[in-house]
Amino acid sequence: MSTKEKKDTLKPKALQYRHGRSSLRRTLLIILLLLTIIPLISISAITIWRQYENSRTQIINQLTSVATLKEAQLTSWFGSLAPDLGIVVANPSVRANIIELMGSQHNEIVAAAWERVILDTLNIALVHENKFDEIFIIDERGKVIISTNPERDAHDFSAQLFFKKGLDTSFVQAPIFSPLYDEMVIFAAVPLRDESNQIYGVLAGVAKLDAINEIMLERAGLGETGETYLVNTDHIILTEVCDDQSLGTIIYTQGVNEALSKKNGDGAYQNYQHPSHSVLGVYRWIPGLEVALLAEQDQTESFATTLQSIKVILGATLLTMIITILVVIWVTDWIVEPLIALTSIAVRATDGDLTQRITLERSDEIGTLANAFNKMIIQLHNSIETLETRVAERTTELLRANTHLTYEVVERQHAEDDLRKSQQRLSLHMQQTILAVIEWDPNSEVTDWNLGAEKVFGYKKEEALGQHANFIVPKSFHRELSKMWEQLFLAKSSTYNTNKNITKDGQSISCEWHNTPLIDQEGNVIGVASLVQDITERKEDEEALRQASLELERLTIIDDLTQIANRRRFYTYLQTEWKQLARTKTSLSLIMCDIDYFKKFNDTYGHLLGDECLYQIAQAISRAVKRPRDLVARYGGEEFIILLPDTKQEGAEKIVEAIQTEVKNIVSFKKQVNIIEPVTLSFGISCTVPSPENTSEDLVETADIALYEAKNSGKNTAVSRELNII
Ligand code: GH3
Ligand code: MG
Ligand code: MG
Repeated sequence: MSTKEKKDTLKPKALQYRHGRSSLRRTLLIILLLLTIIPLISISAITIWRQYENSRTQIINQLTSVATLKEAQLTSWFGSLAPDLGIVVANPSVRANIIELMGSQHNEIVAAAWERVILDTLNIALVHENKFDEIFIIDERGKVIISTNPERDAHDFSAQLFFKKGLDTSFVQAPIFSPLYDEMVIFAAVPLRDESNQIYGVLAGVAKLDAINEIMLERAGLGETGETYLVNTDHIILTEVCDDQSLGTIIYTQGVNEALSKKNGDGAYQNYQHPSHSVLGVYRWIPGLEVALLAEQDQTESFATTLQSIKVILGATLLTMIITILVVIWVTDWIVEPLIALTSIAVRATDGDLTQRITLERSDEIGTLANAFNKMIIQLHNSIETLETRVAERTTELLRANTHLTYEVVERQHAEDDLRKSQQRLSLHMQQTILAVIEWDPNSEVTDWNLGAEKVFGYKKEEALGQHANFIVPKSFHRELSKMWEQLFLAKSSTYNTNKNITKDGQSISCEWHNTPLIDQEGNVIGVASLVQDITERKEDEEALRQASLELERLTIIDDLTQIANRRRFYTYLQTEWKQLARTKTSLSLIMCDIDYFKKFNDTYGHLLGDECLYQIAQAISRAVKRPRDLVARYGGEEFIILLPDTKQEGAEKIVEAIQTEVKNIVSFKKQVNIIEPVTLSFGISCTVPSPENTSEDLVETADIALYEAKNSGKNTAVSRELNII
């Protein structure tokens, strides 16, 4: 597989249109390029800079050496001018000759001879020293006495500085422009002294600047453009330079300005002739000569070699950069391409395409990553298939559940409709029912009050709302009411009670209350609902019924005429007591009594009075019988029977006596008519301890027998009989 084909395999189509797909490549490329190019450029720049600095230092050193050499030569030359003159007059004979010439009045021939001798000496000195162009002797008035140049004879130098100084000591004057010589010259002077050290004149020499020129023009290995020259304090070039026309011109370069301000140094500055050119220069101030010495070289020449070196360095740098960039691109591709392929596959995978695989035959970590990624995609594919199956199953379940839920929702809607209708009906019912429907808040205050409540209690809804429950309850019931509320809230259970209530117009009514606590979803009692029915009429009806019932019951057991128990009641009671006393084995006595001669009473006083008599007798007997368990009953006609539980025969006999006494005392009906005959009774007493062996009928029969015996024995008496167990 070729490299190109490999690359095509690594580049899935998706990669070609994915925005930002090469950001990793770009980043990596930039980083690697920065990491390689920056050091490369830095090293090159430093090398070039070092090269330049070295070259500059080297050139400056060279210029400095030249300047130092020239300065030494100039100083030496300049310093030798005065001594050289001194040597001329050091010879005493020369000095004597001069003195002789100047001091004595000779004739012309002798003077000429002296002059020739001195002139020879001066010429010898001139040639020998080869420094001066002219040497002359000046007298103390400043007039030239004798000169190697005859044109100077008798010339007056009295105003010249060198002369004035020369009268005092050896003196060399800095180069000045001399109109006499029409050029720059140097005057040197030494005093002429006689034997007594008296000054009588000056020996002076004039040096043109040729010697200096020679010194300055002397080649010193400064190349084609290198030159050394002197500039005086008037900025005038004193010595010849490469360009002859520049001699005597005024220049203001940085080097000149610095040197003329009496500083030594070096620097790069503009050329005095060609400002566009830059030179490297070393400048010195030479104090004795009072000139600036400059050694300069054109930078083009100075750095020619350096520029060559720099070009080579730059070329090498450029080449290295190109190679580096190519290597970086290759390395970036080598790292990034597989990652881009992986990313593309991953992106496709996230879009749901799990069919893509990476074909990468590499044994390094990226190859391992690609293989692992392929396996992961396969596993993911399988997992998704499984998941999709589960999702499908789950979806089916959810659909089913949804259908069920929809059904439930419909059911619920129906239920809600029913509930709403029910609530509407309930509301109507609540308003239309004759029952009072009242709702209370937890403070026992009315929150709802229906039409029924208005009818029952007389208060309108707006009057009742907010009222405390006490407003319809009698004061006596207030405490009980508050207990009932506590029970409702604590027990949370319904209560039922019937009690008295007060209506708006102050009437007392009976009401039946069904109270139900209203409990919210959190289990808190938020109020109470009460259904109230006015049962005042029903209560009255019930009372009447109860009274009627009691009357009926009374009538069934009471004898209407005498208002005591009748015979039925007697027998019923006898059965009950019989059983009871049989259990306790206690005595039971029975008294049966009959009014004597009552037929006659009726016949005499009439039945109405007879009835009254019967009533009075019955009441008298009742008064005589005290115990609650005792029973007096009308047994029939004018016969009465008295049941005395827990009473023995003696007790019964005492009761008989008591009855007789009560009967005697009956006066009420006796007052109505004039009844003279006393009403008497005959008594039959029977007594026994009830037992299974005998019966109550036996006891009654025994009493009846005893009564019969009492009748037979004359009436108004009592006969007692024990009922013996047979
Ligand atoms: P004795 O002394 O023997 O008992 O004679 P007696 O007249 O009392 O008894 P008798 O059996 O002969 O008569 C009973 C009378 O009692 C007959 C009747 O006129 C009277 N009598 C019975 N029941 C009533 C009643 O309810 N009212 C009235 N006024 N008289 C009654
Ligand atoms: Mg009778
Ligand atoms: Mg009778």
